Amino acid sequence: TKRITQHVETVVIGGGQAGLAMGYYLAQHDHSFVILDAGSRVGNAWRNRWDSLRLFIPAGLSSLPGMPFPAANTYFPTKDEMADYLEAYSDQFDLPVQLDTTVESLIRNGDRYVLDAGTQRIAADHVVVATGPYHHPNVPRFAPGLAPSITQLHSSEYQSPDQLPKGDVLVVGAGNSGAEIAIELAADRCVWLSGQNTGHLPQWDSDDLPRWLFWFDGCLFEWLFSDLLTVDTWVGRKLKARGKDGGDPLIRLTPEDLQQAGVKRVPRVKGVVDGTPRLNNGRRLDVAAVIWATGFRQDFSWIEVPGLSRDDDGSPIHDRGVVEDEPGLYFLGLPFQRSLLSATLVGVGADARYLATQIQTRTDADETD
Ligand code: FAD
Repeated sequence: TKRITQHVETVVIGGGQAGLAMGYYLAQHDHSFVILDAGSRVGNAWRNRWDSLRLFIPAGLSSLPGMPFPAANTYFPTKDEMADYLEAYSDQFDLPVQLDTTVESLIRNGDRYVLDAGTQRIAADHVVVATGPYHHPNVPRFAPGLAPSITQLHSSEYQSPDQLPKGDVLVVGAGNSGAEIAIELAADRCVWLSGQNTGHLPQWDSDDLPRWLFWFDGCLFEWLFSDLLTVDTWVGRKLKARGKDGGDPLIRLTPEDLQQAGVKRVPRVKGVVDGTPRLNNGRRLDVAAVIWATGFRQDFSWIEVPGLSRDDDGSPIHDRGVVEDEPGLYFLGLPFQRSLLSATLVGVGADARYLATQIQTRTDADETD
């Protein structure tokens, strides 16, 4: 049997942007904590994304609390620049990130949590799960029916066009990832993009981005999107429901960009017939490759605590990141956790600040008892 090797007041699981923002606020209290991350280097979630990826939100609105992203407000950082920024952030605040540490299980033992990570068994009073919203590729059940001659990749496996054989490509899923990959591939081949047109947010691709967005370090923006559009407001709840039903609108890109790149839009893929993809309108497409830009499934099956309930799709039930029936357990970085921007760089800081206050309140109450 393993013995507890360490006790810390708070363990943060995951050292991506969410875990680091949490660390920033925890460090402001007299409180012991550690951030455990499975990766070998801070920022790897960003580094591992496809080669040409740039952020869809400009630098002026892509900073974590306490350290502005080092670029002009209107610049769209590359994925490696964002990864390096996160690494510099962790160094700047001397955050206690322990790398190469995968948490395999989380259970409750009396008043405390117990986490297993390799040879370590750690006890904690509070646990913040910040493992990211994007765990396992979500691929339709009919995908294995495609002919073996068709190359299939999920967007998380896509790096660059030269991974694909010559020939037409079908990109399934018309959200931001699908649209960006489709445009890149359309430079020298025929690309079909399947999925509903979900509209787009105002285009931010020029130097004359509205200056007011950045007013006072983005605080106006933060108020608009992180305070006004929360699960507590009517408009926030409406937007959340819309995103869930119809998919998110395109950001930075527009349907015109797709058209100009020569991407051909087609309806949803309904299934597979004789090894080829079949669309909702009955048409079959003869393609050399399929890219599944169909999102991700969350997997929190390694958390086995009695007070945590889950939705039908396995996502945890919580109130703004606080699991009410499981005192001391928190989630951070989930889509629309507290606001429209909870799963983005600009929104996660406010959510982390909120959770740090909750943890502090709980600690104070325990000390009073
Ligand atoms: P992650 O970055 O996924 O970090 C989670 C960390 O947890 C990882 O380091 C991982 O190693 C670790 N981990 C996971 N499981 C365990 C475990 N069991 N034990 C220990 N460690 C574990 N947002 C924006 O604001 N702007 C953008 O332009 C933008 N573009 C995006 C483009 C793509 C293609 C995607 C998929 C997302 C994009 N996002 C963007 C959304 C979001 O900002 C990113 O997904 C971001 O990486 C989420 O940060 P996170 O810290 O919540 O999770």
